[in-house]
Amino acid sequence: MRYDPHLRRGTPLARVIKDRIRQTGPISISEYHDLCLNHPAHGYYRSKRAIGADADFITAPEISQVFGEIIGLWSAVTWQQMGSPQRFRLIELGPGRGSLIQDALRAATRVPHFRDAASVCLVEQNEALRNLQRQALSAIEPGASWFATIEDLGNSAGNEDKGGGPAIIIANEFLDVLPVDQFVRSESGWRARQVSVDEHGGLVFATGNAVDDHKLGGVGLLGLTIGQGDAPEQPGSILTVAPGLSDILREILRPWSPVGALFIDYGHEYANCGDTLQAMRNHAYEHPLTSPGDADLTALVDFARFRQSVSGSYAVDGPISQASFLGRLGAVERASRLMAANPSRASSIEAGVARLLAPNGMGSRFKAVAVRSLELPVLPGFEPVHGRSETQ
Ligand code: SAH
Repeated sequence: MRYDPHLRRGTPLARVIKDRIRQTGPISISEYHDLCLNHPAHGYYRSKRAIGADADFITAPEISQVFGEIIGLWSAVTWQQMGSPQRFRLIELGPGRGSLIQDALRAATRVPHFRDAASVCLVEQNEALRNLQRQALSAIEPGASWFATIEDLGNSAGNEDKGGGPAIIIANEFLDVLPVDQFVRSESGWRARQVSVDEHGGLVFATGNAVDDHKLGGVGLLGLTIGQGDAPEQPGSILTVAPGLSDILREILRPWSPVGALFIDYGHEYANCGDTLQAMRNHAYEHPLTSPGDADLTALVDFARFRQSVSGSYAVDGPISQASFLGRLGAVERASRLMAANPSRASSIEAGVARLLAPNGMGSRFKAVAVRSLELPVLPGFEPVHGRSETQ
């Protein structure tokens, strides 16, 4: 990562954060992360268009239509596995520009009755993105409904647990924006990492009070999964934990039954160890303190904690690599058919799918994980493939 770690831009939100720190002292990383993304006036996901070649970062559904199409077919087969209920919610969390759901619905039209049964619900807090999503769906799904928060969607299902009926939930790059806290190992134990202001008036990381190991990240150190080979007790080690992960997963799943949910995100399977907080602006990485509110701020999703958070009440399939998931569901075959039908676009179609499947890129860095009601069978794409072992 080549960027100037000392660069601090005077964004409007930087001024708000510095005033707050001067008044009440250093803030936690999760408070900083939350302000950067969700501050009502200046938060990155409140106003920015964020995604696309002309914005800050590009996502899988913007790279190839095959991504959304495969997820559409995944949704239709999941619906069949539920017994083809006559009414169900098809929910997307954080739909970005609306490309994924548009491609998914178009592809799923081929499965009889699926589209008639689906009530499409989109959860999006960003008004500018909601407008793009409306445009994307105006012709194909004019009856779609929008909710600003997961809580609003849950309320529409009634207050009883599981009272909302069947639901299929899809979310690409949604969990990686959950605010994280960080902890730094010192000689005497773990200390909270904080954001403070230095003597030149710039934002800096600082080390705060000692934290009780049992309370670390709301789960206790024992609740954290440390990867083999990591040395968390070495001074200077950093842990990155999303304290709200369990609660948000419960809130997402609780209203629905049966439920099948697909999350695709970049994350890791074993380790919390490491500083995985990263900022991206104009398709380039920068230091997380450089442009508060103007850069996307994300952290790797900890799939081991994801699993721990829901297991018992639900079954978890995966994580498996994005390449395995898309490959097993026929991404290469679909790309070949598209190329044959559109010879003038063949090389860009091929390049797009190759990027999604790249073994040293998105294909392995991104993982697919599914959660399902206990009575449902393993969800499509996650069945073990005989004679082949999954490589992460
Ligand atoms: N799934 C899209 C976009 C990923 S970016 C794609 O693959 O292209 C994250 C998305 O989640 C954006 O649409 C963002 O506005 C939305 N989002 C982030 N935090 C949110 C929250 N707390 N509530 C609702 N939507 C949120």
